[in-house]
Amino acid sequence: AAKDSGRNTYASFTPQMQQHAQTQALLHQELRHAAAEDQLELHYQPILDLRTNRVIQLEALVRWNHPQRGMIRPDLFIALAEKTGIIREIGYWVRQAALQQIKRFLAHGIRMPIAVNLSTAEFFDNELARHIIEQVDASGADPELLVIEITESLFIQNQADTRHFLDQLKEKNIRVALDDFGTGFSSLSYLSAFPVDKLKIDKSFIDRMCGDPRKQALVDSIINLGHALGMRVIAEGVEEQQQKDELARKGCDCIQGYLLSRPLNQAAIEDFLQQH
Ligand code: C2E
Ligand code: MG
Ligand code: MG
Ligand code: MG
Repeated sequence: AAKDSGRNTYASFTPQMQQHAQTQALLHQELRHAAAEDQLELHYQPILDLRTNRVIQLEALVRWNHPQRGMIRPDLFIALAEKTGIIREIGYWVRQAALQQIKRFLAHGIRMPIAVNLSTAEFFDNELARHIIEQVDASGADPELLVIEITESLFIQNQADTRHFLDQLKEKNIRVALDDFGTGFSSLSYLSAFPVDKLKIDKSFIDRMCGDPRKQALVDSIINLGHALGMRVIAEGVEEQQQKDELARKGCDCIQGYLLSRPLNQAAIEDFLQQH
């Protein structure tokens, strides 16, 4: 099965292998060097504005191009990176690559915001916002074109720190999106307390949404909640035309998912944007 589906296949490395302690230890060693040795790469998935039918943003998704094991999905190494602290190096690398891509697009006359995922485990001290801002300033990219995706787990951390972190990003005009919304355990009150620009409805609500009145009701309420709080709402994991139509009817702002495109490597996303 490994060879059937072309570039989206991730061969020779499976969750079964990941469970193997020896593999874990080896992987840990290798992961240490991944960022420094240029083995990471970003793929980009387009996000479509349902009103204008235009791509208005990309999400950068990291992959580990392992010299022997091939392309490894983030699901198979981010948790290890978080446990070992290597996530901070990976996070830095990802932002650096995304900022360079923002500038590449600008050089081609394309003003395209790029979202990067931030792990809650990257919070080590109170310096993270300052580090991100310094990184953006050093790159010379427009801060408005960088979107930071956080998850609800951040709200459960020290709230004063989280508040300060988000305020610093806001002051710098760096946008923040709340990823995988609805899957965490945080209270809804956090949503009104913290400045967040975009809400991403988790794929699990979108899956088999059509024909399931209960899921429809949840999606409706998330969209209304987001709008009531002045946020743009993005539906994740949209695979079927019927889901897209239904989300448009519900007033959802944007969609992301295989229906529009899988995450694409740098060359492929540049082609994709030329054609759209
Ligand atoms: P996420 O941030 O929620 O990203 C969306 C994931 O859903 C991506 O998986 C994407 O390929 C997948 N996806 C998008 N549309 C569809 C669809 O229509 N159907 C299906 N079945 N899947 C879809 P990916 O790239 O494997 O990333 C998985 C997760 O790994 C991400 O979830 C994110 O939490 C994490 N991740 C990815 N890149 C980074 C990174 O640079 N830093 C950190 N900390 N985490 C990352
Ligand atoms: Mg994300
Ligand atoms: Mg997500
Ligand atoms: Mg997700």
